[in-house]
Amino acid sequence: MDPNLGDDSAPLNNGAGGRNPVGLPWQNVSREEWNDYRWQLSHRITSVASLAGLRYFSPEETAILERVNDLYHLGITPYYLSLIRLDDPADPIALQAIPGTGEYFGMDVGEDDPLDEEKDSPVPGLTHRYPDRCLMVVTNFCSMYCRHCTRKRIWALGEGAKTEFELGKMFSYIKRHEEIRDVIVSGGDPLTLPTARIEYILKGLRKIPHVEIIRIGTRVPVVLPMRIDDELCSLLSKYGPIWINTQFNHPREVTEEARQACDRLLRAGVPVNNQTVLLKGINDHPEIIRRLNTQLLKAKVRPYYLFQCDQVRGLEHFRTRLSKGIEIMEALRGHTSGLAIPTFVVDVPGGGGKIPLMPNYILSMGEQRTILRNYEGIIVSYEEPRADGRPSARPEAESLPSRADVYRLMTGEVKALIPAGNERMARRRRRCESASPTT
Ligand SMILES: *Cc1c(COP(=O)(O)O)cnc(C)c1O
Ligand code: SF4
Repeated sequence: MDPNLGDDSAPLNNGAGGRNPVGLPWQNVSREEWNDYRWQLSHRITSVASLAGLRYFSPEETAILERVNDLYHLGITPYYLSLIRLDDPADPIALQAIPGTGEYFGMDVGEDDPLDEEKDSPVPGLTHRYPDRCLMVVTNFCSMYCRHCTRKRIWALGEGAKTEFELGKMFSYIKRHEEIRDVIVSGGDPLTLPTARIEYILKGLRKIPHVEIIRIGTRVPVVLPMRIDDELCSLLSKYGPIWINTQFNHPREVTEEARQACDRLLRAGVPVNNQTVLLKGINDHPEIIRRLNTQLLKAKVRPYYLFQCDQVRGLEHFRTRLSKGIEIMEALRGHTSGLAIPTFVVDVPGGGGKIPLMPNYILSMGEQRTILRNYEGIIVSYEEPRADGRPSARPEAESLPSRADVYRLMTGEVKALIPAGNERMARRRRRCESASPTT
């Protein structure tokens, strides 16, 4: 069994949060404190030294991790830390949160801003790439710093939030561009801002009549679910329509706390969509993604995108081949609920934006028929409409060899090619047999 699949239901060590691992500095925390996001924020792990008591690092590793930490900061909420199985060096939650030596050794591969977000930025912090929507970076702070973050370059700018002056410049750009109807508020993590500052941003956007929808990109439901409190929910419902895009990457992140946070958002009229990043060693297995997405559906969260990991400096050890994403899509389509199937996209270098990729379902095309294949490998002939109502010319039947092949599908002689041993066809036969009277 793949170790990453793990056992979703096995409880970790008990503690105030119900999952507080032994050996952590907050053994005696009360449930009230644990469920208070302010307590979570002020008790984050932020240094390699404080990790040392939780996990073994060799002196060499420690030296490298210190160097990684000089460049890219470290931040793990006690809640997210409690999801980690500290005795497993390949734990998929740990790999997202605890710095690794790969970040240092991969430093010469990739770029800081491969997607040219800054070249497509008319005002600092705002990226306007697509015709009718734009993205605003409103803070550099995150409660948990993902090791695989695409926007790691902004960490060098410190943990500050954009000032009202800087936000004002972004608002006036959006105001001047009436084609913008969808604004993505991103970061950093916008929901780590004080509630009053979130209100300032939403209010500013709602003053612009052509802004139809606001999207918030946040990992708070995954790494700090207690932040989704009543005060925040009523604020979000006041300035709707708001959509939230979050990032669950592994089924073990879909905890009861996370489910409840998503439920509170939904009750406030805020739909939650998920954008998974495909990460080597963390979730690059069809069964992990299938399980993640069916868990998300139970939490009423819709899997929206599956992202190819960007070619960002220091992320090379997380990057999979494109074929891995295609393989995962092949394993999903037809095999599980369509609602559990995201779009696999690669954001191409140079600012070309997101490009969807999937297995090939079109095998061939002729003027009269298109040859498609389904998830079972059944090859079908799809009849196209005849614009002029007249059939195309046909040669004499006897001149056509009578083999069942793809070309016969195209000529319309054969309707479908069905692989031997197809389970669905066997089921149909069994039903027919049991329905027919026996003598
Ligand atoms: C991803 C992205 C968007 C939103 O894309 P959708 O496909 O609409 O979700 C907008 N702007 C930028 C710069 C992006 O990277
Ligand atoms: S929450 Fe988003 S912005 Fe913050 S570190 Fe993770 S991926 Fe980057």
